Amino acid sequence: MPELPEVETLRRDLVGLIVGERITRCEVRLPRLVSCPDCEAFCSRLEGAVIEGIGRRGKYLLFELDRPWEWVVHLGMTGSLLLAEEGSQEPPHTHMVLHLNPPRLLRYVDPRTFGETAVVPAGGYDALPGLARLGPEPLERLFTAERLRQALRTSARVKAALMDQRRIAGIGNIYADEILFRAGIDPHRKADSLSAEELTRLHRSIRSVLREAIKRRGSSVSDYVDASGRPGSFQERHLVYRRGGEPCCACGEPIRRTLIGGRSTHWCPCCQR
Ligand SMILES: [Zn+2]
Repeated sequence: MPELPEVETLRRDLVGLIVGERITRCEVRLPRLVSCPDCEAFCSRLEGAVIEGIGRRGKYLLFELDRPWEWVVHLGMTGSLLLAEEGSQEPPHTHMVLHLNPPRLLRYVDPRTFGETAVVPAGGYDALPGLARLGPEPLERLFTAERLRQALRTSARVKAALMDQRRIAGIGNIYADEILFRAGIDPHRKADSLSAEELTRLHRSIRSVLREAIKRRGSSVSDYVDASGRPGSFQERHLVYRRGGEPCCACGEPIRRTLIGGRSTHWCPCCQR
């Protein structure tokens, strides 16, 4: 959290809000947020740069600049990027502020500070192993059911495999639970035990859940808000996530909550086989 749909929503918003604007000043209040290079070089590479485009890989935002550098942001568990007027009240846990021209502020706010930011040579991610080793993008055309089968060649549980960013980029705890429920697959199954028919169902479910969540501007279950501070609405469509004990919408049996790989997992033992 935030996962692919929330990061993609933020990316689309920011494209309309700040592409073409110049970064005039960079203030980092929490140096350990900057993973590469050191804080001083990070700021000097950003200051004066014009933001020319914004891309995304998995849960990473990639800001194209008018220089041979790229600004990378990962929001961790609780990070947000908020666009605000100069002189507006600063929220608690503001760890980085970029001053833009025309005068506005882009604030990085993160209560739990698992986020990360860096400026790297454009397209060169060697210094950021989490980004360099990402698996395929699940919404790209080339992500076929066959590509999913290759990604899931492991005896790990299917829930854990879906959340492994090196296998598939962008899926976290919320969407893994929702995807597996809609595919009718028990999250405890070994990933390499799925039949061709189950892989087809899972593939369809991954794409439809992520697409619908983007359409509803993501899920806001704890801290996630968009660049203007507004929550998403896909949490209203969650069928199992954080619904342990409630009746399943398909069969009426209580939704169960268990742990898989240390993460809370919500599923219906009757509908998911
Ligand atoms: Zn059920």
